[in-house]
Amino acid sequence: MQDQELERYSRHILLSQLDYDGQQTLLNSRVMVIGVGGLGSAAAQYLAGSGIGHLTLVDDDVVDVSNLHRQVVHTEATVGMNKALSAKQQLTQLNSSIEIEAVTTKLNEAELLTHLASVDLVLDCTDNSASRMLHNRVCVEAKTPLVSAAAIRMEGQLMVVDANQQDCPCYQCVYPDLSDQQDTCSQSGILGPVVGIMGVMQALEGIKLLTSLGASSCGKLISFDALDLSMRSFTVHKNPQCSVCAAK
Ligand SMILES: [Zn+2]
Repeated sequence: MQDQELERYSRHILLSQLDYDGQQTLLNSRVMVIGVGGLGSAAAQYLAGSGIGHLTLVDDDVVDVSNLHRQVVHTEATVGMNKALSAKQQLTQLNSSIEIEAVTTKLNEAELLTHLASVDLVLDCTDNSASRMLHNRVCVEAKTPLVSAAAIRMEGQLMVVDANQQDCPCYQCVYPDLSDQQDTCSQSGILGPVVGIMGVMQALEGIKLLTSLGASSCGKLISFDALDLSMRSFTVHKNPQCSVCAAK
């Protein structure tokens, strides 16, 4: 790390649990954020600020004016622009010393697996269960740690999936029958800060996974209720018959 970086990340380096080595790990890390909507806006800003060396932002959607109340990496000036490109533009202003790659197409399973070969961590910030199931499946197959989250109305949830950790359940273990007919924010509404809280928690869990900071969150489903500010942790178990992660 050069003097400029030591100064920039000094408040991280001051943390005895993270220290110089932890920050250097973040600078050497490659993280893919799939979906740069509400979750991705919050997560990507903290990952960029934290000095993740290479960020890949994936989104094929364009910024709509109805996104701006929660997708705060975008601005009025980028309405109509692809979200990955809009976010890259903003995040480059936050941290010009990291590499940011924008992928403006929806990646299929084969393309995702190709990308995962050079990625240390995935944050699933998409807004539908079909995408979350796909990202869960490819991350288990590639053994790439995944932080998956969802938010709707005034609730959020988060789960860490890491096939490298023994007995770590995957998203399919917990939701074996999840259909694609789930609510989305565009149908049911979402209170702006709720999705921000969940996205920031994804960035937090991601940094912990990359740096081995704290206890593993594998085997927990975290549920957030915005109305009473309660955060509950449910223990979840690996399904030995899971169609995605069994015997892997
Ligand atoms: Zn599973």
